Amino acid sequence: MNIYEDKFHASIQNSFFHKLSQSEQEFIRSRAYMYRFSHQEIRQIIDIARDLEMWNEKNIIEIFPEHSQKKVVFSRLKKAYEELRNKPNSYKDFELKNQRDEQKFTFKTEAKEGFGLGLCPVASEKTRCCNLLTLDAVESCGFDCSYCSIQSFYNQDTITFDSSFAQKLQNLKLDKNRTYHIGTGQSSDSLLWGNREGILDALFDFARQNPNVILEFKTKSDNVKYFLENSVPKNILCTWSLNTPTIILNEEHLSASLEKRIRAARIVADKGVKIGFHFHPIVEYENYLKEYKGVYTRLLKEFQPDEVALVSFGTLTFIKPVIKQLRERDFRSKITQMPLVDANGKSSYPHDIKVEMFRHAYESFAPWHKEVFFYLCMESHEMWSEAFGYQYSTNNDFERAMLGAYTKKLEMEFLI
Ligand code: SF4
Repeated sequence: MNIYEDKFHASIQNSFFHKLSQSEQEFIRSRAYMYRFSHQEIRQIIDIARDLEMWNEKNIIEIFPEHSQKKVVFSRLKKAYEELRNKPNSYKDFELKNQRDEQKFTFKTEAKEGFGLGLCPVASEKTRCCNLLTLDAVESCGFDCSYCSIQSFYNQDTITFDSSFAQKLQNLKLDKNRTYHIGTGQSSDSLLWGNREGILDALFDFARQNPNVILEFKTKSDNVKYFLENSVPKNILCTWSLNTPTIILNEEHLSASLEKRIRAARIVADKGVKIGFHFHPIVEYENYLKEYKGVYTRLLKEFQPDEVALVSFGTLTFIKPVIKQLRERDFRSKITQMPLVDANGKSSYPHDIKVEMFRHAYESFAPWHKEVFFYLCMESHEMWSEAFGYQYSTNNDFERAMLGAYTKKLEMEFLI
């Protein structure tokens, strides 16, 4: 091997090169030899090729510019890639590939160290945050949402239950003179597993023992059997993460359809349980506002504001491990095909796109503004005033407003 071959060989180690098609590999190798690309340039070309495949766009061979000068070729290639990344996505001709179409997991029950109760894992002082406490009842999730960061924390094929979960909950000593908001839908879906390993028994008992706790179950499932068969303590909230049919079909694999989620929410609300809806992530694509409007309008028609405690909005924010994990998978997703800018150390949409989607969402729920609590999740302080027309000066103010609204809706005493 000559010197450059050695260099090329070294550059493709631990990259996605071998995940590319044979023809793409041969093409990149030939162009690298022709232009003597640097280590960094070779890595970027491989990532570009990987993204184009994942986005179901033209491949690297089709967009690769021809010119005698390496510098011109590389800058034109980056430009072509950025243009594809920044154009509004269309799922019209999008073909899914290798997405998970059935739930195949190993269930594991073991005594876990410690207790998964803590501040929301994505909370930050850099964003306006509600100080939610999250409780990890189960580790890893059975759904396969392409944008989800859980996949970068846990092994996706093993669902782990803590054999001492119920005991730890019983032993949990909280301040009786304070209202808490605890959510169980971060490390896994709250309802997908039903009462497996007695987790819902334990959580409902915990809610009964701690009437000062607002316990939120967040789900993308329609598995509400336990709620229908058991009396539900009034300090329990059941909330659905919703999205448009286009995003559910193409990016929220294995989860319940929009129809099933809304029907499940309707059934639970009919039982007098207070519910809520999370639109997180709102995803930008061709005509997205029209499709989201359809979902917002449907909720206004099918639910009464006194049944609904909250509606929240949020959007895509990526940490590097998730982008790497997505490139590692042999499937199709358009979720990273978006104009990405820095958002407090993570990557997200540019400011103006966020203002557009959040203002549109909030204004679409105008009839509920006085009776339902609306919030932005993980967004900058300024985004509130631009999208909602008001903002909280601190995270504690935000939390107080949220707890005040929830306790009123749940007819609980608000203890601060
Ligand atoms: S606003 Fe969102 S990210 Fe922040 S603490 Fe609340 S749930 Fe977590």
